[in-house]
Amino acid sequence: MLIQQDLGREYYSLGRDEVLGRIAARKAELADKLLILCHHYQQQDLFQFADLTGDSLKLSREAAQISDREFLIFCGVHFMAEAADILAASHQKVMLPHLHAGCPMADMATTGAVEQAYKELLLAGIMADEKDMVPVTYVNSSAAIKAFVGEREGSVCTSSNGEKVLQWALKKGEKVFFFPDEHLGRNSAAALGVPDEQVLLWRRGEVLGGHSVEDLQQAKILLWDGYCEVHMRFLPEHISQWKIKEPDINIIVHPECPRDVVSIADQYGSTEAIIAAVAASKPGSKWAVGTEINLVERLAMQHPDKEIHLLAPTTCQCTTMDCNQPVYLLWLLDNLAAGKVKNQITVSPEIAANAKKALEQMLAI
Ligand code: SF4
Repeated sequence: MLIQQDLGREYYSLGRDEVLGRIAARKAELADKLLILCHHYQQQDLFQFADLTGDSLKLSREAAQISDREFLIFCGVHFMAEAADILAASHQKVMLPHLHAGCPMADMATTGAVEQAYKELLLAGIMADEKDMVPVTYVNSSAAIKAFVGEREGSVCTSSNGEKVLQWALKKGEKVFFFPDEHLGRNSAAALGVPDEQVLLWRRGEVLGGHSVEDLQQAKILLWDGYCEVHMRFLPEHISQWKIKEPDINIIVHPECPRDVVSIADQYGSTEAIIAAVAASKPGSKWAVGTEINLVERLAMQHPDKEIHLLAPTTCQCTTMDCNQPVYLLWLLDNLAAGKVKNQITVSPEIAANAKKALEQMLAI
C-alpha cells in the first residue's frame, strides 16, 4: 500500500529557484552513481534534470544498459518504476520521487479481479483450458498483472506495437483477453479489421463481465474496462472544431483515446511516434495533439517554427505523475547524499521472473 510522505517544514518553505538550484547541485555531487529518468508527461521543472527521457519501456530498457549507476530515480509513475526494477541489474535501486505517483488505469486491473474473470470464464465453459484465452497486457499495468500474463504465456504490448502483439495472440489462441486499457485494445483490434461484434467489453463487477455465454462464445477479443483519465478527455467534436477553424491542421492522437476520436484523427501513435511526426513535419505546419499537456507544451517549445496546440480546450494533465514535484526529487537526492535510500520500488523475484517472461515475449514478437 502506498503511504503519504511528509518531507517536513524545511522543504515546504523552499522557493522554486532554491529547489531547482539545490537539485542541480545534488545531481552534480551524485553524478557517478545517479541516473534520472523522465517520462515525456513530466513537468519541465523535472524534465530539465533528466539523463534519459522517453516512454516507460524505452526508459527502463536504456537504464538497464547503464549498469554502473546505482541509483535510478524514475520521474514517472509506479508501474514504470516497477518495470525499471524488473529490468535493472541486482545492485541498482529504483526510486520514485513521490509514492502517490501511480497510474489510475494500471490500478483498474488488479490480479484478484483478473483471476476471478478467468475463473468465471472457465466455469461457464467459454474456455476449456486457460491456454485458450491468451492474455495481453499493455505495459501500463502492474508488475503483478504482467506476471499473471507471463505465467500464462501471454505478452506485454506498448502503444506502438499493440496491433502486432494482438495479431500474434489471435494466432496463438482461440480468444484474447486484453488488459487494462479498453481503448488501446479496441483501436488495435479495429486496425487489424476484427469485426466490432467479436470485441466485447468486460465490465468489472458484473457476472461474466455483463455478457451472455453465447456472446462470449462468439467473441474473439475481451477488453478489460480500464481507461486513461487523461486521454478520455479528448472528444470527436474537438477534432471537428479544429478542422473548421484551421482546415490544414494535422490532428494526431494517442491510441489510449477512445475509438471515435482515433478513427477520425489524421494520425495516431505512441508518445514517441507523436514526437517523431511533429519533428519530421515542415516548418509552418500546424498540429493539434491529443495527449498529455506537458508533452504538448514541450513540443511547442521545441518547435517554435510550427504551430502546436493541445487538441482539447481544457488542460489534460496526468495529475498522479504530477505528484512528482521538484521538492520531492530534492528530498530524495538529499537523502541519497546522506546515504539513505527512500521510496525504493522493488518487485519480488517470483513476480519479476514471470513479468519478465511477458516482456521478453513482446520482444520476441
Ligand atoms: S497519462 Fe494515463 S496511462 Fe499514462 S500514467 Fe497518466 S493516467 Fe496512466
